[in-house]
Amino acid sequence: MLGLMQDWQLTLDKVLDHAARVHGGSEVITRRTDGKVYRTTYAAIHRRARQVSNALLRHGIRLGDRVGTLGWNSERHLETWYGAMGIGAVLHTLNPRLHPDQLAWIINHAENRVVVFDTTFLPLAEAVADKVKVEKWVVIADPDQMPANAIGAVCYEEWIAGESAEVAWGQFDERTAAGLCYTSGTTGDPKGVLYSHRSNMLEMLMAMGTDCIGISAHDVVLPVVPMFHANAWGLAFAGPASGASLVMPGAQLDGPSVYELLDSEKVTISAAVPTVWLGLLQHMEANGLKLPHLKKVVIGGSAVPERVLRAFEVDYGVEVYHAWGMTEMSPMGTIGRVPAGLKDAPLDVQLAQKLKQGLPPCGVELKIVDEHGTELPRDGESSGRLLVKGMAVVGSYFRHDDGTGRAALDADGWFDTGDVASIDQYGTMKITDRTKDVIKSGGEWISSIDLENAALLHPAVANAAAIGIPHPKWDERPLLVIEKKPGASVSEAEIKAFLDGKIAKWWMPDAVVFIDAIPLGATGKNNKLKLREMYAAGELTVAA
Ligand code: ADP
Repeated sequence: MLGLMQDWQLTLDKVLDHAARVHGGSEVITRRTDGKVYRTTYAAIHRRARQVSNALLRHGIRLGDRVGTLGWNSERHLETWYGAMGIGAVLHTLNPRLHPDQLAWIINHAENRVVVFDTTFLPLAEAVADKVKVEKWVVIADPDQMPANAIGAVCYEEWIAGESAEVAWGQFDERTAAGLCYTSGTTGDPKGVLYSHRSNMLEMLMAMGTDCIGISAHDVVLPVVPMFHANAWGLAFAGPASGASLVMPGAQLDGPSVYELLDSEKVTISAAVPTVWLGLLQHMEANGLKLPHLKKVVIGGSAVPERVLRAFEVDYGVEVYHAWGMTEMSPMGTIGRVPAGLKDAPLDVQLAQKLKQGLPPCGVELKIVDEHGTELPRDGESSGRLLVKGMAVVGSYFRHDDGTGRAALDADGWFDTGDVASIDQYGTMKITDRTKDVIKSGGEWISSIDLENAALLHPAVANAAAIGIPHPKWDERPLLVIEKKPGASVSEAEIKAFLDGKIAKWWMPDAVVFIDAIPLGATGKNNKLKLREMYAAGELTVAA
């Protein structure tokens, strides 16, 4: 027997409809690429997104067609998202930090018909234009700021100006594709994750839960995490759904610029990868600044360094929500909350727990398995490959489906995350490594994340990355690569002395090398593949 409730399809157009109807006056504030701050409302975005829909329809975009964006977080990027998704087109966020060849490959694989981009990315669009079959390029700019260009790009404002704001949104199945995002593909070709309206809506509802990000209409939310990094972690949906104000930081993501917005807009919630927070904290420490309005920061994409956790929680009174996820998981997997069983535990115990990647919300299942696929106990000690299931987890990659919708899964429907983890008795998951970054020494794993965390506690260290280097006897040994804070000085011997006692003896790096800047990948994480290549090419030399 089926239930007898309304068949209210979970399509994302309803999110912006709701925002316009119920929270129409809530603000969306953007720092535009010219540096000026522009303010608008959900009601205005709703109207203009419908104009975008009509401009797309006029171009011939129909259900299932792919519309690409190369954009910073901005109100016009948001309009493009909802304008495309509302008519059942697939909004494909392109990562502008990728190499032009890789970008061209992705645009072709996705068959983007239209690409909407920020002026900053004109050189990139021009570099790929003759390698791809994009029919229309649209520049996010006002008419008087339109750059001269060689690719026939039109001005966004002129493109939508004459369009009506009346359009039929929704009216398709909730399993219709809504968004497309390629993983950065540090190994092999990039793979496309094709989100559905339903999966993004469910993800949004999970993210809004109090023990997840928890957003209210009273919040002012600054997603530093770009909209091209796994859906801005759901915030481009959860913002309008809750009625919270959104502050869109545009192109300037350095510590001083992020601080300025957090302060001037009285931001209460923000989200970014650890490298952004390291930059912000450095700026605040150097200038004796405080953050009286900020209540919580979501930190994910790579592990939260203990130094960052303590600075926010203890020095600034800001709660850290350590999040683990993947593009393939829409992206939320776990959130580092204190489990009920430890709610009265001493601060240090609670902080140690928060340093772990956390608890899955209802809607995500986790398990860890050994090399034979046998499930390992949840004892906080055993560690193995982390497998997931859930309502917003990939089934097959775009154009890699075999007709089953589960080509990326094992026989029991589990997706292998490529991470190595343990799960403790509270159900809290801790990542020890990515499978491809694991350091295996004498048959035992050394957690590069724990090593980096310990090194980051040293006051002279701005960033740290541990990689495995070949060793004749132990297979691999750890090498610690350090980027010093500006003006700081520290030697290899001092770092080793500092680590002594904080890590197991046999984890002590064989060498510590100093480098001007640790290379970052396309989503702002330490690029360990690049570091391993640099090591192999003899570019990482030991010098104090
Ligand atoms: P990309 O590597 O292209 O940025 P994702 O954002 O999907 O793609 O990366 C997902 C991976 O990032 C996870 O599988 C995991 O290895 C790592 N990761 C994400 N969040 C965390 C975290 N909080 N702690 C440790 N690793 C993390």
